[in-house]
Amino acid sequence: MPRSLLTMTIRQAHDIFVVRQRGREVAAALGLEEQDQIRIATALSEVARQMLAAVGGAEVSFQAVGRHAPQSLQVDVVSPVPLTQADLTRGDPLPVGRLVDTLSVSHADAVTVVTMSRRLPPSAARLTPERLDALRAELAATSPGSPLDELAAQNQQLIAALDEVRSQRDELARLNAELQETNRGVLALYGQLSEELEETNRGVVALYAELDEKSAQLRGANEAKTRFLANASHELRAPVTAIIGLARLLADASSDPLTAEQLRQVELIRGSATDLLGLVNDLLDLAKAESGRIEPSWEDVDLCAVFGQLRGTLRALASRPQFELVVEEPEPPALIRSDEVLLSRVLRNLLHNGLKFTERGEVRMRARLDDGRWELSVSDTGVGIPPELHERIFEEFYQVPSATPVPGAGTGTGLGLPYARRLVTLLGGSLTVSSEPGRGSTFTVRLPVRGGP
Ligand code: ADP
Repeated sequence: MPRSLLTMTIRQAHDIFVVRQRGREVAAALGLEEQDQIRIATALSEVARQMLAAVGGAEVSFQAVGRHAPQSLQVDVVSPVPLTQADLTRGDPLPVGRLVDTLSVSHADAVTVVTMSRRLPPSAARLTPERLDALRAELAATSPGSPLDELAAQNQQLIAALDEVRSQRDELARLNAELQETNRGVLALYGQLSEELEETNRGVVALYAELDEKSAQLRGANEAKTRFLANASHELRAPVTAIIGLARLLADASSDPLTAEQLRQVELIRGSATDLLGLVNDLLDLAKAESGRIEPSWEDVDLCAVFGQLRGTLRALASRPQFELVVEEPEPPALIRSDEVLLSRVLRNLLHNGLKFTERGEVRMRARLDDGRWELSVSDTGVGIPPELHERIFEEFYQVPSATPVPGAGTGTGLGLPYARRLVTLLGGSLTVSSEPGRGSTFTVRLPVRGGP
């Protein structure tokens, strides 16, 4: 509900100064800060000036407006005769509107009212109706100062405003300089980062080139090793075979008789040469497999036949008490497209290992179809392999130090498993192990039902 605080009549130029001064006083009394006091006073005096020039006078009223407590200061400037917008502004659309929150012109009952308002700060909530009444009485009692006083006050305000503008300009200049400085810094940083990135990129490219070169060298070295192994073992085979033959001749009953000691030594030579020949043969096989010189010959293989043959040849090696070799009959038709010779070699190797490292219990081989692949497993109840060595046993020459073969099974070369894995890979499959020390091991060969090209 609006509460009138003061009304004034404007009849002459002098009144313009008065209305400006009173406007400031009312605004100050309602708690508006100095800048806002000047704004509303300036807007008011400008509208009053225009109205005085257009129609020779105006009525001004100040009101505190708000639902409960005052929320804004509203000033009505009323012209006694109707005015057109052009009269009021002379073509200029009331630029003073920028100085207040709202400014509107309304026409009613043959009068024109220009209404402007400015929102009051929250502190205005403390202005009770009684305080407003007191304020109205106060304003009525005080007499306005002379135009000279108002001019002096206006000058003071102008100086303060100019000072403010200057300090803002200085601040702006300082901020601009700072911004320029920051920009230069950012640009320099950007340049530095780009250079660093370029440098890093060059490094990475060089590193890749080096890496390529190193892997080419590594490939070359690996090929050289394979060639060397193949040549060396090939060259060694003939003399070692000759040594075995000669030792056999020396020990033969039809040769000159030897003393018991000589016979023992010749047997030692023959045993060592036989071990050496085994090693040379294994090396040659592995080198051949690695160099890609083994070409599987693909054909339909009957797993029942392969299993039967292995059962027959290895049974002799399993004639120990408390031990059994079980080769389960695959469920016919057990056909696989593979290389029979290579596949038999792999399985024989795994069975041999099982026999070699299992004192009691059994070694069992079985075949089953699993999701379109043949799963051929050889499991035993032997010494087992510690989990951390499950991959190492597929490295060339690696033998588990704690695993001693059962007596009479020979020492082995440590080349059987790497060779077997290489062959299985050639056949398009995989060879894995699961094992637990003391409980036994299971080696599993997984092969596609239809391998080959
Ligand atoms: P070799 O049997 O000639 O020593 P392998 O490459 O066939 O060489 O095997 C490597 C090592 O893996 C063996 O020396 C042995 O320590 C371990 N091993 C292989 N098969 C078994 C098995 N069935 N049970 C326990 N250990 C095994």
